[in-house]
Amino acid sequence: MAREVRARKNTRNFGIIAHIDHGKSTLADRILEITGTIPKNELKPQHLDRLEVERERGVTVKMQAVQIDYTASDGELYHLNLIDTPGHVDFSYEVSRSLAACEGVLLLVDAVQGVEAQTIANYMLALSENLVIIPVINKIDLPAADISRVSEEMKEALDIHPGDILLASAKEGRGVCEVLDAVVSRIPPPSIEEGETRSIIFDSHYDTFRGVVAYVRVFSGALRKGDMITLMSSGRRYEISEIGVFKPEMSPRERLDSGDVGYLIAGIKEPGEVRIGDTVTLAEGPASKPLPGYKKLVPMVYAGYFPSEGESFENLRAALMKFGLNDPSLVFEHERSGIFGYGYRCGFLGLFHMEIVQERLEREYEVSIVATAPTVVYRVFLREDEYIEIKNPTEYPENRKLLKVQEPYVRLTVVAPVEFIGAVMELCREKRGEFRNTEYLSEKRVSLEYLLPLSEVIFDFFDRLKSCTRGYGSMNYEFASYLDSDLVKLKILVGGREADSLSLIVHRDEAYRRGRRIVERLRKAIPRHQFEVSVQAAVGSRVIARETIPPMRKNVTAKCYGGDVTRKRKLIEKQKAGKKRLKNVGNVRIPQEAFLAILDTVREKQP
Ligand code: GDP
Ligand code: MG
Repeated sequence: MAREVRARKNTRNFGIIAHIDHGKSTLADRILEITGTIPKNELKPQHLDRLEVERERGVTVKMQAVQIDYTASDGELYHLNLIDTPGHVDFSYEVSRSLAACEGVLLLVDAVQGVEAQTIANYMLALSENLVIIPVINKIDLPAADISRVSEEMKEALDIHPGDILLASAKEGRGVCEVLDAVVSRIPPPSIEEGETRSIIFDSHYDTFRGVVAYVRVFSGALRKGDMITLMSSGRRYEISEIGVFKPEMSPRERLDSGDVGYLIAGIKEPGEVRIGDTVTLAEGPASKPLPGYKKLVPMVYAGYFPSEGESFENLRAALMKFGLNDPSLVFEHERSGIFGYGYRCGFLGLFHMEIVQERLEREYEVSIVATAPTVVYRVFLREDEYIEIKNPTEYPENRKLLKVQEPYVRLTVVAPVEFIGAVMELCREKRGEFRNTEYLSEKRVSLEYLLPLSEVIFDFFDRLKSCTRGYGSMNYEFASYLDSDLVKLKILVGGREADSLSLIVHRDEAYRRGRRIVERLRKAIPRHQFEVSVQAAVGSRVIARETIPPMRKNVTAKCYGGDVTRKRKLIEKQKAGKKRLKNVGNVRIPQEAFLAILDTVREKQP
């Protein structure tokens, strides 16, 4: 027992948080290198970014845990569990879950960029988890580094005492040992809780051979290889076949004790049996009640995912189930589309999240997907206190009398240099924003707060903000409330038939412009048919934009070098039947590229 207590005393669990690109993954690299966790010749830049999408885009979207052995300046050996986290607003659920496994965090701020919107958001998250926060100004090697201005911003925006701030260059390795010593001296060891064994599953992934690998933080008691365990939400029992820590590869151990972060494998083959946030306890002498778990997430954006041409629904289903283990913020339910057939309506935390999910599904799970336009969840009131939630525009009750419609609004924070205040305000006004507040972080930087419709934020706000602030603006948002709005369903008709998966819900003032754009794109993307094809955008029964694709002027009989009359006639008959059938069922053949082109016009890319 004494040995165990000592072991706990020398354990620290901490995360690294920051705005995107402020150097979290690079600092993690240096820590891995300096502590000899990864030999220098094996260390790749952003070593903990292990996903293909992360390496390619240079952005972290997954938390990653790693255990480090470090001999601190007091001469003692410490086990440090480090969790690297993403910085983008869409992935704050990853951040909040990793923070729940930690006692402290390093908060990095770029010495040139200064405090940005996600710096504030992540700081608030760490504060609400009662974590010790170690502020670090990173990239001090850069010629434009302005340490005094950045410290001032940290004091102003975050109430951080300048004397507490450490200085580092993750690139050059300067200040990294001081950072690690601060982790040891400022962050408390995990408290030892006696009694019932309880561990939280904070993440997981699916291994083709071994099934579910659950990532756990043990809060009390211990888990050993060979133990029979129970997952408290289902009551199911399993035997631990392997348990261990991340180095960052999985390294087996005999046991994990209270305070430890690691993984366990227990022969769970069905992805649906494991739920992130669930409590693991021992089957013999189980805990009386589970750990609090995680806050239930509300998706911000929905879109349909369908198997693309030649792909099977079954593959899509299996991929989503396995993927769900690694990304609990993704929700999905069945959907059927007139155009794409069977698929799923998926809920995401934002557009960037949606993009990453699709890319990961395609790369890591090898399914090919068509995604429909993203939409927020609207509330349609049929009576005063009775509404339905619409997360698919095709469900919009057009034919019924509606009392009112509401859309979600967010509290948007934009941080930018003062010279861009005018441009940002103009953009927010255009996006139907309502000004709330201004706060000066320093003489040069300002934080603006707006109440703005979520649908406007997810559309192309980020790109517009970047361009109107020459890349210096950053943003964060959180759900505020549902408010009344003048919304309509914009229908797209091809050959007079509604193309269900192309419908959108838009603000009345925007309907014409959006409809016009889609109709123009479709005209270019739909190949000519043997008959005229009309493409229309309509609100209710009113057509607001129309384009016509003229028929092909191909003379099929030309192929039949005169002569054989019966063959000629047969061909004409067939062509007629075909024509009729196509027209009758409104079967205009629209190539998949056409949909993708349309979806691009409604979904502007995030970073
Ligand atoms: P993250 O998004 O917070 O994980 O940031 P990364 O670690 O991916 O770093 C973003 C960029 O900043 C990369 O190009 C790094 O090479 C660079 N970077 C990180 N730390 C430093 C530093 O201390 N000095 C300089 N000059 N560049 C750095
Ligand atoms: Mg990173």
